[in-house]
Amino acid sequence: MNVAAAGIGMTSQRTRTRMIARLREQGIGDEHVLAAIAAVPRHLFVEEALASRAYEDTALPLGYAQTISQPYVVARMLEILREGRELGKTLEIGAGSGYQAAVLAQLTTEVYAVERIAPLLARARINLQAAGQAGVLLVHADGNTGLPEAAPFDTIIVAAATARVPNALLQQLALGGRMLLPLGTAGRQCLLLIERRAGGFSETRLEDVSFVPLLSGIE
Ligand code: SAH
Repeated sequence: MNVAAAGIGMTSQRTRTRMIARLREQGIGDEHVLAAIAAVPRHLFVEEALASRAYEDTALPLGYAQTISQPYVVARMLEILREGRELGKTLEIGAGSGYQAAVLAQLTTEVYAVERIAPLLARARINLQAAGQAGVLLVHADGNTGLPEAAPFDTIIVAAATARVPNALLQQLALGGRMLLPLGTAGRQCLLLIERRAGGFSETRLEDVSFVPLLSGIE
């Protein structure tokens, strides 16, 4: 850790406490989710030049035209996915910086995260290690095809917007499992919650959101 990062580390506990208070004011009520977010040092997941802004409730650039999600959106998605149950085996599509994967790892023991951009994945690996979360399984792959070798998943969380729900992800959702994804294009997106029951899939449209697009292939 360099000197600037160490300085931010010292003040991060205070700013993190403030971030949690803000999330509460914004309506996040799941104590497990709040504790998970409080436990992850977000400044380790953003570029050094932006570390002082790590605890603001804002999306920040990751490079490669990607962004680390806003803490409120991470909290809200996890709250929706957890409602009334444990997350169980979880797949994240779009690992980005690894931040959300680190938060997931506070809530459940089995976390897989795929990312299509190799240098971002390498960065995520370093970030997760620095945050003491080496247990997250990171895979360089196109999330449109999910992760068949580790399926089925109790929870699937997609961190990039798609106009159509990838069929592979539906297939890899366990019975009783939940998937949450931003549905739509750049102009208009909402969160879509999909639950798999014995009789099929149920879909619930939730609030509007703004995510980078889910792309195809790897690079
Ligand atoms: N969850 C991340 C932020 C995600 S930004 C964090 O906490 O930092 C969305 C990410 O999805 C980007 O890193 C982007 O490269 C990735 N992505 C987009 N399409 C993808 C695909 N088809 N497969 C895997 N990752 C994808």
